[in-house]
Amino acid sequence: MLEIRNITVRYPGMKHNALNSINLTIHPGDFVCVLGKSGAGKSTLIRCLNGLQTPSSGEIIWDGQSFSALSDEQLRKIRREMGMIFQHFNLIPRLTVLQNVLTGMFGFRSSFKNLIGWFTDEEKAQAKQVIAEVGLADFADRRVEHLSGGQKQRVGIARALLQNPSFLLGDEPVASLDPGTSDRIFSLLQEMHERHKLQTIINVHDVQLAKRYATRIIALKDGEVVFDDKPEQFTDDM
Ligand code: ADP
Ligand code: ADP
Repeated sequence: MLEIRNITVRYPGMKHNALNSINLTIHPGDFVCVLGKSGAGKSTLIRCLNGLQTPSSGEIIWDGQSFSALSDEQLRKIRREMGMIFQHFNLIPRLTVLQNVLTGMFGFRSSFKNLIGWFTDEEKAQAKQVIAEVGLADFADRRVEHLSGGQKQRVGIARALLQNPSFLLGDEPVASLDPGTSDRIFSLLQEMHERHKLQTIINVHDVQLAKRYATRIIALKDGEVVFDDKPEQFTDDM
């Protein structure tokens, strides 16, 4: 269970809060889609959850521990529990699919490992397993720069999964993809969510995608939660 208690974020120089006293509890099995216009605070919320943004006030509590009380070392451990996928994929174009996926395993240290080909056979086998899971078994040795957008996001998902996370967090992961590809990526996310028993929180613009795949929709407006319920209850005019 992940608890967000009274989180407020105000960026320096801003006249209003990016997030204003947000309270949320994320339950095991939740597949949350966060909806909201540009500037609503979606990205800020995700950044608070993966520890990249420290709230101005309030607490995030996971497994009974408040993020604010954690040492850098513990915070690093929590970040590994939070698999992240991004709008622009954040891959290294000139490296192969396999190398990119392995990069997720040890964070920055692994860039060095990549350079000198230092991964063990077991690490490579684990990476190949998740690459196969996302449907790219035949692409492991291909450079990422030669892949389609949908394939790149599959690499991003594989990289996140290799950390064996409890959470999968997505900041607009399909915003640069066409509707058909977006749907296939969501379908893959749903499959991975179930297979890996994840708690999934994805920011998305497309209401229809959220309604099709989420078990819970959270809508933000001007930094506040204006809807938090089952997708069936959500109407576009909120
Ligand atoms: P969304 O992801 O829904 O588009 P964001 O979380 O990016 O929303 O932004 C929420 C608000 O915070 C917006 O008003 C945005 O301009 C502001 N904001 C976001 N990031 C920064 C930043 N680094 N510095 C200052 N203001 C920011
Ligand atoms: P795009 O439309 O950009 O190619 P997709 O997400 O539709 O992106 O698919 C990317 C690639 O993943 C496909 O070209 C195919 O090689 C592979 N793929 C897609 N779905 C499956 C699947 N169910 N099983 C195996 N491989 C798949």
